[in-house]
Amino acid sequence: MLESKRHNRPMPKPPSVPAASKALSAPQKVLRKMGLDRDIDLALHLPLRYEDETRIVKLRDAREGDTVQIEGTVTACEVSFKPRRQLLVTLDDGSDTCVMRFFSFYPSHQKSMAVGNRIRARGEVRGGFMGMTMMHPSFKTTGGALPEALTPVYPTVAGLPQTYLRRAVLTGLAHADVTETLPAGVHSPDPRGLWDLRASLQFLHHPTPEVSMAELEDRTHPAWIRLKCEELLAQQLSQLTAKRERDRLRAPRLSVHPAGLSERLLAALPFALTGAQQRVTAEIAQDLARAVPMHRLLQGDVGAGKTVVAALAAMVAIDAGWQCALMAPTEILASQHFGKLVGWLEPLGIQVAWLTGSQKKKERQAMLQAVSSGEAALVVGTHALIQEQVQFKQLGLAVIDEQHRFGVAQRLALRGKMQEEGMEPHMLMMTATPIPRTLAMSYYADLDVSVLDELPPGRTPVVTKVVSDSRRDEVVERISAQLAQGRQVYWVCPLIEESEALDLTNATQTHADLSDALPGVMVGLLHSRMPVAEKKAVMDLFNSGVMGVLVSTTVIEVGVDVPNASLMVIEHAERFGLSQLHQLRGRVGRGAAASACVLLYGTPDGGRLSETARERLRAMVDTNDGFEIARRDLEIRGPGEFLGARQSGAPLLRFADLSTDGHLLEWARALAPEMLDRHALLARRHIARWLGGKSEYLKA
Ligand code: ADP
Ligand code: MG
Repeated sequence: MLESKRHNRPMPKPPSVPAASKALSAPQKVLRKMGLDRDIDLALHLPLRYEDETRIVKLRDAREGDTVQIEGTVTACEVSFKPRRQLLVTLDDGSDTCVMRFFSFYPSHQKSMAVGNRIRARGEVRGGFMGMTMMHPSFKTTGGALPEALTPVYPTVAGLPQTYLRRAVLTGLAHADVTETLPAGVHSPDPRGLWDLRASLQFLHHPTPEVSMAELEDRTHPAWIRLKCEELLAQQLSQLTAKRERDRLRAPRLSVHPAGLSERLLAALPFALTGAQQRVTAEIAQDLARAVPMHRLLQGDVGAGKTVVAALAAMVAIDAGWQCALMAPTEILASQHFGKLVGWLEPLGIQVAWLTGSQKKKERQAMLQAVSSGEAALVVGTHALIQEQVQFKQLGLAVIDEQHRFGVAQRLALRGKMQEEGMEPHMLMMTATPIPRTLAMSYYADLDVSVLDELPPGRTPVVTKVVSDSRRDEVVERISAQLAQGRQVYWVCPLIEESEALDLTNATQTHADLSDALPGVMVGLLHSRMPVAEKKAVMDLFNSGVMGVLVSTTVIEVGVDVPNASLMVIEHAERFGLSQLHQLRGRVGRGAAASACVLLYGTPDGGRLSETARERLRAMVDTNDGFEIARRDLEIRGPGEFLGARQSGAPLLRFADLSTDGHLLEWARALAPEMLDRHALLARRHIARWLGGKSEYLKA
């Protein structure tokens, strides 16, 4: 963000929202790029901070470090070349003098600050052996009356000077339609009452000097509360609208068959469902039985047992004569699902097909044929599932695993595999990254959410230790001990973003070191650049227990399931995100054996870890609870990154902060359905005001 200093070069005229066909000036183009097209967008572009230009401070009263506005007469104006070229202007305000320094300046500067001129300048006072100085203060020549309100400083970018933006916002604010959209008599979430939108905007752009700066800065002022309420309401309204539109579409009614495939699968499983799995399975069955497309997000920590829940949903669809698709983000994960589902379903006489990008042409043709003829009732695969050639006979249910790893377009494409007009398949989206409640209520308000909040029995919690890289030898001893007990071990190497090659060297080196240190043990290597067949061969060896140690880059992040693995070492753990560490750790502790996770950290210069890095690793030691980890991760990274693909292109909350504004979110959630039911016109105006054309993304 840049802020332009005010000086006296002529500025282009402020915009009056030009028609698209007219040529745009450079700053107008920047405005458009920033999404500040409409008057209302400008009016909603709120200041970052304020400058107090309502007062003039005498130099005698100014202290070093203060940012003040002064006014006086220029007594000297000269260009000096020592130590480098600069303009030095001395200002005398009658109480003292101050030297203003400009390292970049135009001839116009010298002209407007000629000796004898009166100048009003604003900047930070510094001491020095020449007396008081100001570096690059902003200044004006004419005195004029002092403003009555604080001066707003707006977020801007290069090419959009602050003065220009200020005038544009002022124009926008004057022209924007800010008439009330809240129904009369609406309950206020704030005991101080709900401010009017117009008054709130007017105030936030031009607050009076006596306002509490703290209330403005921490956004607790009633004017801020009103804006946050508006924003949250727009979000809830648009998602609820999307949900209601979807509810008007049709989907096949899929009812559970008594003594059907679900019953048979349950009887054949080597375990009984947990209470949470039973509850969630019933929630899904209820959705499937309706003639309205399901849109459900299944959240469950790593290892909670989402796959069997998905399989049971598939049984319902297949029993009713429809096909089911299961899409996973990586080939490894898809092949794991495929293996598991074939094992469960083929004994029940169900044909499972398999589609990935790396498939041989002949095999692929056969699979495509089985899918289009309907012979294959279940199709498992990667993104290959949504390619054009893939035609289902009749797709009734689409399951997306690790849904956050897919983009909006991909989810829409899978939905589009339903052949009939006006019909949609039921959708079940699954994620192992639990979404904290407020975030789910806010960004996923259009989805129904099921939570698997119980792990299958017999798992011992993973014990996590943070260990310095200098103690690697001890870690290797620990590995030997596990291997001696017939257990298996994962060793994960970090992703070095700048260089995949470096990444690889690191993993290869570790692989070689461990092979040397553990004679007689099969140590495997797995990384993302390996051909798929080779990856599969390595995974097969590890799955079957022949391979004792698997060194890998983060390709194992999702879905790998080897219950005999009881130790995971994560190298340079400080480089991983919290959720990622948690997912990785979820690969161990899947069997009954006590399991451990060692977080190795390295510090390049032997120094100490940064405070945030330590905090993150500490969080991993403190808790195994995915929701708690997600909450801390959200705190550290903020919702933008946390939400990932779902939000690509969709507006994130600008004003409300879900960690402090939960009560405002509740307010908006309660009001949204009532508004859609009873004040549809107001609701539509509200959405248009806040989201313009940006609400489409929320439909995926
Ligand atoms: P995730 O939710 O991470 O996808 P999975 O579906 O891969 O978890 O399940 C993890 C492991 O737990 C698998 O080996 C699965 O067969 C097993 N599992 C699932 N449900 C149960 C259960 N109710 N009791 C025992 N084991 C279960
Ligand atoms: Mg899974």
